Amino acid sequence: MCIFCKIAKKEIPAELLYEDDLVAAFKDIKPIVPVHVLIIPKKHIESIADLQDKDEVLAGRMIMVAKKIAQNLNISEKGYKLLFRVGRDGGQEMPHIHLHLLGGARLSENIRPV
Ligand code: AMP
Ligand code: ZN
Repeated sequence: MCIFCKIAKKEIPAELLYEDDLVAAFKDIKPIVPVHVLIIPKKHIESIADLQDKDEVLAGRMIMVAKKIAQNLNISEKGYKLLFRVGRDGGQEMPHIHLHLLGGARLSENIRPV
């Protein structure tokens, strides 16, 4: 089982900020900006490239949860960045879909350039 599946099943610890039937959200272990949250599907899907038509609700849920967490953390008005890395050329290192919520500072255009 991959690390993010284990976090979703609470088999390894994480600073969980939100969960529902489809997704979980937790703080990134190595934040690159003051607010760095990852939103993941609870079921294992390797990347956005592996999403199927039946995952449309799940894909939308990730964005809506990111929006709500940004509101809860009071960065909504100032703004933030949402980022999916996809596959090797996209710089994806964890092989389980995760949406980065990045904020709390003015962000440069190149976050961790590859
Ligand atoms: P990516 O490069 O887009 O695949 O991002 C993977 C992210 O997962 C990185 O920002 C890591 O810091 C983060 N990460 C890896 N392991 C953990 C963990 N156990 N808990 C929280 N975040 C993690
Ligand atoms: Zn997984």
